[in-house]
Amino acid sequence: MDLKNYIADVEDFPKKGILFRDITPLMNDGKAFAYATNEFVNFAKQVDAEIVVGPEARGFIFGCPVATTLNIGFAPVRKPGKLPREVITAEYDLEYGSNTLCMHRDAIAPGQRVLIVDDLLATGGTVEATIDLVEQLGGIVVGLAFLIELTDLNGRDKLNGYETLTLMQY
Ligand code: 5GP
Repeated sequence: MDLKNYIADVEDFPKKGILFRDITPLMNDGKAFAYATNEFVNFAKQVDAEIVVGPEARGFIFGCPVATTLNIGFAPVRKPGKLPREVITAEYDLEYGSNTLCMHRDAIAPGQRVLIVDDLLATGGTVEATIDLVEQLGGIVVGLAFLIELTDLNGRDKLNGYETLTLMQY
């Protein structure tokens, strides 16, 4: 199945000069959505993942079906102020300023094998901070899975040594 048929290119979103890859048409099509999540499920089996971690918000959409299909858990990564109990944090740099991501302190058990799922790999900042969170908790990142990789932004350079699956490249 050519998944690119289900990605809408949106010019100048969220700011002028940015070409946004909109994945909502893929979610909207049951067969394409199931195909994509099934690819992630196969990868999760290959790397023997014991829990799925996904950053808000699109990491939830693609991570949760993988977790429920395999009868394993899902742990959310969120922006500050969203998780109700004790959290750990990781920061990453943006072009201007920085972002912080959080995870519940008890979300991952030490030694647990973790698959990180998100919709898109751009600069790699989000996934790098997510890896940091998992590793702070003693988790083992066994795989990273994305629908889309924007190759010009060289996010992969930050992911050396981590098994990485991307279903589409632009
Ligand atoms: P990075 O941190 O790798 O630079 O950016 C990846 C994060 O930004 C992902 O969580 C992703 O959801 C979001 N993102 C950045 N650009 C796009 C885009 O063009 N389309 C979508 N769907 N998400 C994007």
